[in-house]
Amino acid sequence: MTTAEDSTPLREQLEYYRARAAEYDHWWLRQGRYDRGAALNAQWFDEAAVVSSALAAFRPAGRVLELACGTGIWSEQLLPFTSHLTLLDGSPEMLSIATARLRSPQVHTIQADLFQWQPTEQFDGVFFGFWLSHVPPERFADFWTLVSRCLAPNGRVFFVDSRYDHTSTAVDHRLPEPDATVLRRRLDDGREFKIYKIFYDPAELAGRLRGLGWQVDIRQTDHYFLYGS
Ligand code: SAM
Repeated sequence: MTTAEDSTPLREQLEYYRARAAEYDHWWLRQGRYDRGAALNAQWFDEAAVVSSALAAFRPAGRVLELACGTGIWSEQLLPFTSHLTLLDGSPEMLSIATARLRSPQVHTIQADLFQWQPTEQFDGVFFGFWLSHVPPERFADFWTLVSRCLAPNGRVFFVDSRYDHTSTAVDHRLPEPDATVLRRRLDDGREFKIYKIFYDPAELAGRLRGLGWQVDIRQTDHYFLYGS
């Protein structure tokens, strides 16, 4: 099996996020190239609030692991629910922004390549935001095996990801056909990278996960997000 170090799109994907760390939040905050105008921005924030409410209703608790935490957008929401929050990301740049954002003794970090990392402890909850869509299709089952190995008995998972919508991404990004698995992303300085991006249909994703033995509930917001537990 290849690793992020020797597989080109996986390597580029991590390079892209490392280089993007300082400008990453523009996407979430609908700023700069991600600003789609007042109406669509408001739609985005309303739908993000739906997912945040679902996460609060899910009530993560105890020791929680967040995979591919990025700048800590979701870590901040997880923190009040947890006794310990472990943040894992392959990018030291992302981890340093996330720890500065959270400033909490409850938070621990792991810098690791998720395609090589092996858990050494188990958690009550695992969370990942906008990560499943970056897992290459051929690694889907292995990724979910990894998630199950991170979980203590009765442990639970919550995840959120992107729906296919042209206005979700930057104005100078083009989404390929919905069934493509690799696309190009650009930074503010114009550098381009190839990354994996897989858009899931909620029902199909739920069926695949049930086939792997998970009990799942997957929902979507009107345009932008799908989320599951
Ligand atoms: N979860 C955050 C959020 O919702 O805002 C960040 C999601 S961002 C789309 C993907 C994250 O995956 C980035 O922080 C990136 O550094 C991380 N990443 C990319 N490749 C990785 C790898 N091979 N191992 C671990 N993390 C990786």
